[in-house]
Amino acid sequence: MAHGENPLDKDIDTIGGACHCGSVRFRVRLANGLHSARRCSCSYCRMRGAIAVSANLSDIVIEEGEELLTLYQFNTKTAKHYFCARCGIYTHHQRRSNPEQYGVNVACLEGISPFDFSEIPVNDGVSHPSDRPAGTGPSLAGVLRFIPADESEP
Ligand SMILES: [Zn+2]
Repeated sequence: MAHGENPLDKDIDTIGGACHCGSVRFRVRLANGLHSARRCSCSYCRMRGAIAVSANLSDIVIEEGEELLTLYQFNTKTAKHYFCARCGIYTHHQRRSNPEQYGVNVACLEGISPFDFSEIPVNDGVSHPSDRPAGTGPSLAGVLRFIPADESEP
């Protein structure tokens, strides 16, 4: 449940997004609304700290600032992490676990805050699904919980 007077519609389909400085703007059709919101405990995601939702590769259109999108890759170089070269904000990445999909930074989506989510599952990115035997899906490292100050009072 979202907090306050502004309940989160987790079934949103197509939504606009932008980085912090607004140079990079995109439209995305989410694969499963906000229901796919996850964090990940891998070496990169635990530094980045963003919540990502899923979209199919063909369902993101970069409308502005594509020339500022900068690519970062490491380790197996399968995942492609994009961020704005001007403000440094991560916008989306092509997944290693499913290269047919992007993960999209929910904090870049119009009107959505990471703190709208009361609980976020954290995928175990340390033992990555691609490093495990075939057929074993991503396992859960845990759940992060946000408790708004105005709700924690009795
Ligand atoms: Zn930017």
